[in-house]
Amino acid sequence: MTALEDKPIADEGVPAGAAPVSEEQVLSTLNADGSRNWLCPRVSPGRFWQARRITAYLLIVLFTIVPYLKVNGRPLMLLDVMHRRFTFFGVTFLPTDTLLMALLIVSVFLLIFLVTALFGRVWCGWACPQTVYMEFLYRPIERLFDGAPGSRRSAKKAKGLRRVLKHVAFVLCSVFLANTFLAYFVPPEQLFRWIAGSPLQHPTAFLVMAITTALMLFDFGYFREQTCLVACPYGRLQSALVDRHSMIITYDEKRGEPRGKKRTSKKGAAQDVSLPVAAPQQGDCIDCHKCVTTCPTGIDIRNGLQMECIGCAQCIDACDDVMDKIGRPRGLIRYSSQAVVSGEARHFVRPRVIVYPTVMAVLLGIFAVLITSRASAEAQVLPRQGAPFYALDTGEIANQVRMRLVNRGNSSAQYTLSIASPDGARLDMEDSTIELEPTQSETVGFVVVLPPELFGARGRCDLEILVTGSDGFTKTVSYHVLGPVHRSGR
Ligand code: SF4
Ligand code: SF4
Repeated sequence: MTALEDKPIADEGVPAGAAPVSEEQVLSTLNADGSRNWLCPRVSPGRFWQARRITAYLLIVLFTIVPYLKVNGRPLMLLDVMHRRFTFFGVTFLPTDTLLMALLIVSVFLLIFLVTALFGRVWCGWACPQTVYMEFLYRPIERLFDGAPGSRRSAKKAKGLRRVLKHVAFVLCSVFLANTFLAYFVPPEQLFRWIAGSPLQHPTAFLVMAITTALMLFDFGYFREQTCLVACPYGRLQSALVDRHSMIITYDEKRGEPRGKKRTSKKGAAQDVSLPVAAPQQGDCIDCHKCVTTCPTGIDIRNGLQMECIGCAQCIDACDDVMDKIGRPRGLIRYSSQAVVSGEARHFVRPRVIVYPTVMAVLLGIFAVLITSRASAEAQVLPRQGAPFYALDTGEIANQVRMRLVNRGNSSAQYTLSIASPDGARLDMEDSTIELEPTQSETVGFVVVLPPELFGARGRCDLEILVTGSDGFTKTVSYHVLGPVHRSGR
């Protein structure tokens, strides 16, 4: 017996135990008195649910292992906020790579726009971690302890030991998710040290992990669909991103309306006598509300495309099952477009479907050129601090200079500093060779000493500092130092 079959249809066409969405209801999750309408969606285990379940478990494995995978010795993905280093597919972006990051981020946004224009919120329904963990980890656990929504066991809800065990399972899942989430922001070696060490050794790390776990518990244990409805901006952008030809989950109003009132089959078309069947003058929708009670955001897809629809296809599975039982063709609710269900021709190629990938290709082209021509290291003189110059006992003029060096390569390298010009200037530094690990950056300070006659009438001298690396990197950094005004002949 499926979850759809485990409950007879109640008198008003709404499965017993499920709250129908009333006319006055502004939000599916908000009761008229302002209290929250706590949703307990039924599972409709049809073909889309089966496919989503397989996808979800594969994604859970993928989300878990991605932070530990390496490309060229670097993480596949690491958003190291603390050290301001982002790594994607083995390529590390530093704060000086703002343009590259901007190109990448805009391209990702354009990809999202394109996918949404073509397939609606397919990401939300099939791959978003919020949906994946909520529908295929937390809700199954809840059903295990509370029983399937609408069942007698569910009516009693978890009590006593079952309730404690449910919350223990939720906490364990949240700890697991918190660690998975943090692994995207903290290098794995450091994360393992945090996990293995005593909280007293890493109090800040422990606090971060505890807060992240609490947030996961709050999100998946309490806030749930509110994250999609209230917190996530993507749903709100949907109306601007889709058009009449986007493939979304639609109710075929022409076929379904007018909705049938209950009229129980005595024999014939309906295989399940507890289901009402449509009268001949009625549409195929028998107003059984199964598409509503299975919806994880509690909406009625028959009211048209709504911001709250996350494209999970549960209403398709629910309705197909009903159609099978009353002997009508499947697809009253289906993946289609607003244009097609209104009887118009489908247009796959539209301006936005051409513009998004074109702009994306241009941006990614620029990105590819910039990244392939990027030097293996970076050397940059930082703004001067304190007194601009001072005179030595020898009469020479000294300037303090700070230089930031970054190793972008995949192996450690040594960098040597020297003065390329003008003649007579020298670099005063304890050790002018600096060794840097891959992606390591360091600010080094040194003194440039020059004879006073190099400063001329303007009291400044143009310098060229040569940086050479053991990895073949060479760069001449231009800079000017200050000194006393020097007039020749005086
Ligand atoms: S659309 Fe399908 S599932 Fe929804 S109420 Fe009508 S018949 Fe029932
Ligand atoms: S309306 Fe259908 S596709 Fe949209 S969220 Fe509800 S069940 Fe999922």
